[in-house]
Amino acid sequence: MFTATIKSTLDEDISILVKPENHSWNYLCECGDASKLTIKEIQNCNAIFISHTHIDHFINFDTIIRHQIGIERKVTICGPQYIATQIQHKLKAYTWNLIDKEALSYEVKEMISDNKIVTYELSPPLWEIKEVSKTNSNILFADKKFEVQGVLLDHKTPSLAYKFIEYDTVKFNISKSNLKGGKWVNELKEAFNKNLSNQIIQIENIQYEAKDLFYLLELKKGKTLGIIMDHAPSEINHKKITTHFLNCDTVFIESYYKNKDQNFAELNFHSYAKMSGQIMRTSLIKEAIPVHFSRKYSAEEINELQQEFYESFMNSQKL
Ligand SMILES: [Zn+2]
Ligand SMILES: [Zn+2]
Repeated sequence: MFTATIKSTLDEDISILVKPENHSWNYLCECGDASKLTIKEIQNCNAIFISHTHIDHFINFDTIIRHQIGIERKVTICGPQYIATQIQHKLKAYTWNLIDKEALSYEVKEMISDNKIVTYELSPPLWEIKEVSKTNSNILFADKKFEVQGVLLDHKTPSLAYKFIEYDTVKFNISKSNLKGGKWVNELKEAFNKNLSNQIIQIENIQYEAKDLFYLLELKKGKTLGIIMDHAPSEINHKKITTHFLNCDTVFIESYYKNKDQNFAELNFHSYAKMSGQIMRTSLIKEAIPVHFSRKYSAEEINELQQEFYESFMNSQKL
């Protein structure tokens, strides 16, 4: 399970903090100005996910650097092509003559196409960009319990949307039998995961076929969380969203404009309330949350925009 919290107020730029369940790190999506983001949360970030580097998504990266200096570990930053150079420019804007070499380093993953990631490393004091690897994959980040995949949308510049995928887990339900636990439980889980139903599992002096013990296991489906930022309301983008985010548990999606400003949305390669709601419904998203609204709107207008989104999300067939 993921807990995602919006760390920006309605009149600030967007920033969302993601915390996986029973996990010691947290993960930051977008670096917009976010007054609810604490120093501790920034220091505890293991990876940062940025859709694109329009100023409203990248302005707060300087604050991130400020609080991460001295944490003495590597932090991963994911983004579209050229973000490594932009991160380097931010870092090089400051003087680093007193810094310890171990103070902090950044691993930067650029998604340059939907199936190609280039990884770089930047370390103090010079913050030179060193290429580490190139991989043919859409997995930008992986941990034991979850991974984060990327898909590039069009916003007149590539805008990287992210999907957090918690892996399915197998739980052992001891209450279903009189057997005593032991190392055989892990052997049974492994046989289940690898689909080895005839594998012999020895419990004390008795041998069982794995399939006869599978009733003791319960599959817990992992949760999914999508973060979809700025994108044009285009057919190609919508096709990518429905393909990549189909059936997601929770998705945060940009809804920059009200329905009456649909022409501005099309002009500026942004989405608008009705269209964001509709694409979330088409993608069969269980919980969809509109975020990232134009600063020209008053609190009341944002409230109306949110209503437009939910009307469309709940009832798209009327469109
Ligand atoms: Zn943008
Ligand atoms: Zn934006």
